Amino acid sequence: MRLSRFFLPTLKEIPAEAQIVSHRLMLRAGLVRQTASGIYAWLPAGLRVLRNISEVVRQEQDAIGAQEVLMPTLQPAELWRRSGRYDAYGPEMLRIRDRHERDLLYGPTNEEMITDLFGQSVKSYRELPQVLYHIQWKFRDEVRPRFGVMRGREFLMKDAYSFDIDHASAVASYHRMMLAYLRTFQRLGVKAIPMVADTGPIGGELSHEFIILAPTGESGVFYDGAFETHDWLAEPVDVDDPASLQAFFARTTAFYAATDEKHDEAAWSTVAPERRREGRGIEVGHIFHFGTKYTGSMGVSVSGPDGQPVFPQMGSYGIGVSRLVGAIIEASHDEAGIIWPDGVAPFPAAILNLKPGDAACDALCERLYAAAPGRLLLDDRAERAGVKFNDADLLGHPWQFVVGPRGAAAGRVELKRRATGERSEIDASDALSKIAALA
Ligand code: ATP
Ligand code: MG
Repeated sequence: MRLSRFFLPTLKEIPAEAQIVSHRLMLRAGLVRQTASGIYAWLPAGLRVLRNISEVVRQEQDAIGAQEVLMPTLQPAELWRRSGRYDAYGPEMLRIRDRHERDLLYGPTNEEMITDLFGQSVKSYRELPQVLYHIQWKFRDEVRPRFGVMRGREFLMKDAYSFDIDHASAVASYHRMMLAYLRTFQRLGVKAIPMVADTGPIGGELSHEFIILAPTGESGVFYDGAFETHDWLAEPVDVDDPASLQAFFARTTAFYAATDEKHDEAAWSTVAPERRREGRGIEVGHIFHFGTKYTGSMGVSVSGPDGQPVFPQMGSYGIGVSRLVGAIIEASHDEAGIIWPDGVAPFPAAILNLKPGDAACDALCERLYAAAPGRLLLDDRAERAGVKFNDADLLGHPWQFVVGPRGAAAGRVELKRRATGERSEIDASDALSKIAALA
């Protein structure tokens, strides 16, 4: 993409309504614009980030055998009357009436719809387990939308739903999902700690929130620093073996981690003092086993091994995909702007042409750019070098290839790593191999 042609409305003035750093940076860097309270339009650079995050989420869901579907945003009220939640849900639900006076709603979540879809087609225990997910917009009419995309009214969520024949199998589905989440967040470059969460009126032991540490987070958190260094991608788990999953779960939950609601001073005091991490955190995911709550209330059963009807055991598993954009920025920025983790950034690298019109600069930039035009951002604007450096740091490109007239004449490029500020001078041929590796 050529920056001279790219729709990237950056802002110099910090908008007054933006209270937290991620919101300010998302507006300044031209990622989103608010169209109504808590409702945002995603501009090209922001949409690229949202897509990158969705893709990592999708790959890790697929890796544990979850299957992608796409359910609509609008749902008939009838479904929610069946589960009893239509009246219970309260004012956060956006209720709509169509021209035939039928009650609809903009989905805040999809348990009812997926349970109904499942019930229409699955008749036997032999077809279980099933895990289905989608990545779809949700609407919750939050009392106080704030912090930009972190607490919006319309937001993008990955929500998955598991159906199992019995409790043991449902627990294995839950463990599998926990592993997928830990891998997803690691690949997104953030440390999201699983914390025991309240299961609410349904009870039960299986609910975890995944929380990223950030001073602007809405929950107080306490956890063992051992979580920070663990490599979940290297975790040796056989996802088809319940015993292996159980062992992984036991290892993971042996470390202390809790939000203030669940905090236990006695258990906390057993964590080595140098490993105690205390602060505030942002909930980016939530997994929940709730048994037969929906299959039971909606009358969805399958025939079990002995021919008797059984209500399948369910779990639901959410990731706040659009919230993650803000949460990643909260966790990864400096005074100059965003520091995107690799794999999340709108572009893995940018090329800065410090002197457009200079024959050597133009030629070298075009050569580098041609190596991966769809993946690179070429700053070809007629602007001062300082403006280009500032914008590149604001946008947070993980790698920046800086091409100035003197270097270009000698076939040299300066390569800057955004995260560390490290710079090195390299040959054009090395720059080309680096680009090939990134793209
Ligand atoms: P919160 O406690 O932050 O209101 P929640 O517990 O109501 O969230 P869930 O129903 O668990 O949310 O939804 C799954 C995920 O969707 C959350 O972990 C969060 O990342 C995301 N999410 C929930 N509400 C919003 C929102 N208003 N804006 C953006 N993302 C949201
Ligand atoms: Mg939650």
